[in-house]
Amino acid sequence: MTVERIELMEWFKSLIKRFGVYRGDPTSHELELLGESQGRMQLVVKTRWLLIILLAIYGMYAGGFMYFSGNGADLRISQLLVLGGAMAAVVAYNLFYHRYFRELSHFVCINHLQILLDILFVTILIHYSGGALSWFWAVYLVLTLEASFLLERRGDVWFIGAVGGLIYGALLTAEFYGIIPPIGMPLIDPALQHNFVYVMLLWFWVSLMNGTVAIISAYLMAIIRKRENDLKLMVIKDQMTKLYNRGYFFRTLNSEIQRSLRYDHVFSVIFLDLDNFKKFNDTYGHLEGDRLLKAVAQIFRDNIRRSETEPPYDVDVPCRYGGEEFAIILPETPLKPGLGSESSSSINALGFAERIRKDVERLEIDGRKATVSIGVASFPQHGSTPDALVKAADDALYRAKNGGKNRVELAVE
Ligand code: GH3
Ligand code: MG
Ligand code: MG
Repeated sequence: MTVERIELMEWFKSLIKRFGVYRGDPTSHELELLGESQGRMQLVVKTRWLLIILLAIYGMYAGGFMYFSGNGADLRISQLLVLGGAMAAVVAYNLFYHRYFRELSHFVCINHLQILLDILFVTILIHYSGGALSWFWAVYLVLTLEASFLLERRGDVWFIGAVGGLIYGALLTAEFYGIIPPIGMPLIDPALQHNFVYVMLLWFWVSLMNGTVAIISAYLMAIIRKRENDLKLMVIKDQMTKLYNRGYFFRTLNSEIQRSLRYDHVFSVIFLDLDNFKKFNDTYGHLEGDRLLKAVAQIFRDNIRRSETEPPYDVDVPCRYGGEEFAIILPETPLKPGLGSESSSSINALGFAERIRKDVERLEIDGRKATVSIGVASFPQHGSTPDALVKAADDALYRAKNGGKNRVELAVE
């Protein structure tokens, strides 16, 4: 990309960010969600190509059939032109989506918009193929399925299902009262367009079908998404403490480094190791040791920041690095107060680590107590690769142990 184009895009992003419709610099977790949503968008674009091809094949088949059977004369040229034009418009915006889905996926309601566009064009298709006489109402069902696939919230799918039914009803009503002149179709009795009972029965039937598809498909997608999510959590979490595992720690560390490099941000990582845990095990038994590990994990969960957006997620990433060693990634967090960007000045890694240390010190399980030693390092101050950061935090932890345990040490530059 040329410099001008990049500058133009940045300007455009800052403009729309101000109106809250652009997701801005996403967090690692948001990037992950964005990746999933991009995958879905790509599939929908492909499905739309398929649908366009099927409609074109059907158009040729029906057109040819009617022409050779002598029914084609009833079709008006304007009708064919508008249908062809609507098709061309759908091809055009699908090309656009196909080419720019990555950029477009940053916009908050982009998927709602593309489904509403589809509904609009299907309604045009229905109008020009006879309105109440048209068979193409079934395409609304396909769009409702599309919505359940693209949209995260069940309510949104129901909404799209209702919009399909309502727009169809509005079209039939407008045609019935002659607000939009109805268009005839060969082979089908045009009197049906003016038969109130027929129009009402049809409308109700289509709305019912569309609503049913919305409910069933949203339900199915909710089950699929939940299973997918459960499986994912099993892969990335430690079963005993329910903290993230070591594999996920390195994955997140990598993506935080990439993200912070790209947006010129800081973040911190802290390493923790329980003090004299072997002795705790030897004295009280391993089951009690496990209880302590779970209680410490709960302290982490109580202290981390969470995003309550839908779906909610952890901003800070607490991990079980191994045995009784833990690591917590703190995105957008400077080492000490006053360092880093102005937005994150209130939270700092040192303060966070001190809070955890004190909470563990205060912890008491059936009168048994424990302490923890902590090492803190920041990106890019103490390293700009995963290995360098881990080593910096680990060295600081080592110094905390040597300095008498139950303390927090900062990495040295
Ligand atoms: P230091 O203060 O220097 O860290 O001493 P320490 O005893 O905590 O360190 P050390 O690494 O020698 O001991 C770690 C112990 O943690 C040894 C191992 O039995 C115990 N451990 C590791 N994983 C688990 C676990 O899942 N459950 C229990 N109960 N103990 C574990
Ligand atoms: Mg250890
Ligand atoms: Mg230890």
